[in-house]
Amino acid sequence: MTTVKEPSFRESVDLMFNRAVALMDLSPGLEEKIRVCNATYTVRFGVRLRGAIHTFTGYRSVHSEHMEPVKGGIRYALGVNQDEVEALAALMTYKCALVDAPFGGSKGGLAIDPRQYDEHELELITRRFAYELAKRDLIHPSQNVPAPDMGTSEREMAWIADQYARMNTTDINARACVTGKPLNAGGIAGRVEATGRGVQFALQEFFRHPQDAAHAGLSGDLDGKRIIVQGLGNVGYHAAKFLSEEDGAKITGIIEHDGALFSPEGLNVEAVREWIVRHGGVTGYPDARHRAEGASVLEEECDILIPAAMEGVINLDNAERIKAPLIIEAANGPVTAGADDVLRAKGTVIIPDMYANAGGVTVSYFEWVKNLSHIRFGRMQRRQEEARHELLVNELERLDRYLGGAWSMTPDFKKKYLKGAGELELVRSGLDDTMRTAYQAMQEVWHEREDVEDLRTAAYLVSISKVASSYRAKGL
Ligand code: NAD
Repeated sequence: MTTVKEPSFRESVDLMFNRAVALMDLSPGLEEKIRVCNATYTVRFGVRLRGAIHTFTGYRSVHSEHMEPVKGGIRYALGVNQDEVEALAALMTYKCALVDAPFGGSKGGLAIDPRQYDEHELELITRRFAYELAKRDLIHPSQNVPAPDMGTSEREMAWIADQYARMNTTDINARACVTGKPLNAGGIAGRVEATGRGVQFALQEFFRHPQDAAHAGLSGDLDGKRIIVQGLGNVGYHAAKFLSEEDGAKITGIIEHDGALFSPEGLNVEAVREWIVRHGGVTGYPDARHRAEGASVLEEECDILIPAAMEGVINLDNAERIKAPLIIEAANGPVTAGADDVLRAKGTVIIPDMYANAGGVTVSYFEWVKNLSHIRFGRMQRRQEEARHELLVNELERLDRYLGGAWSMTPDFKKKYLKGAGELELVRSGLDDTMRTAYQAMQEVWHEREDVEDLRTAAYLVSISKVASSYRAKGL
């Protein structure tokens, strides 16, 4: 049992923020202005379901409006509360600043267990929640733009977009009121995979810096690295899939809400995911050992630990027993401030949430721009790019014939070179660029300042200084 009191999620974020600002030279008052949450709206609304009125409680927090619109997901989970939503909104401010997404920070949540309702009921609840928020400009293309989070997906975003459009029939930019929509409802290719893809790009970039990998006692690249993932939802599934299928990593553990699967030889991510979709959890999965006490697998031997479910899972109770030398926070706030101290003292390298899971908001930014520009990325350039490449290939082939056919292009090169970039390729390229650039900004601070011991403090320093510049530019 813990004897030291664990801070709440919001207190954890504040403690990490305070540790960083202590190393900065901010004008008096500005530090406080950046830290505090500007406003939280609480709404209780009723929906008639199954012959009775059910009352639901929802929140939308706006942490910082130094840039507008403000941005952040909407979470559906029973434990949603004001403290959690405010902590998540604060993280959004820092995350957007770190990856240069031009938004302030916000977050929303509805205290509900979505598994207890059928699709039609969830639609009624979501539309009513969206109505309450849109009525107060807490959903609005230029003011506040939600996205999916735990317990919500493309489906809920499509309902929200439609609800907003019904309430604002002449708003030509209505679709930009929310991101993470399905492709046929104004979404963008690559948004569903974006956060998990961003985790993959973040790890790839980490291993491009051997001195950083050495901090964690690791070397080489991702090939053969043993990874344990907690939460095989949107973020965890995509991260595990790409890392195992494309980078050669081995997913040795998968922790879900009903226990964990463990296999030192590596799990088949696709098969486990299918099992979860069909059976609601990992219990009964035939091809791996099941452990009912899932969280204990966080403490197993591995190279990389990816908590991708929820906050506070690595805390003062288990931090000392965590063996992974490298943790990448795919979820928001999975390591408490207390656990962070313990792990830093042990030399564990933590790639912090505000960077690690920023892929979602990055591609949300691309979707928002697409909605405002009313045109798919790549539509104007793709064929022109292909035509120019074809010109070159034709010329090379003519040269080859002239030289007597002694040289020829590999067929694979020709196919790849002739294919112009479509929206998906452009989105992935933009995301990769964002993750690399943001990592390098953090890394520079980490290595160049002796008083900065870890990547999280470095991430805060980079993002807080950007937010501070925005406030200064406004004359504050
Ligand atoms: P999700 O609802 O798709 O997946 C969450 C998964 O975690 C589910 O499979 C669920 O069964 C599992 N889970 C729940 N409780 C668990 C427990 N106690 N132990 C183990 N597994 C448990 O949610 P998501 O969108 O993948 O979000 C996961 C985390 O990533 C959250 O912290 C969220 O804030 C963060 N995040 C998500 C996005 C995004 O684009 N979806 C972006 C940034 C950050």
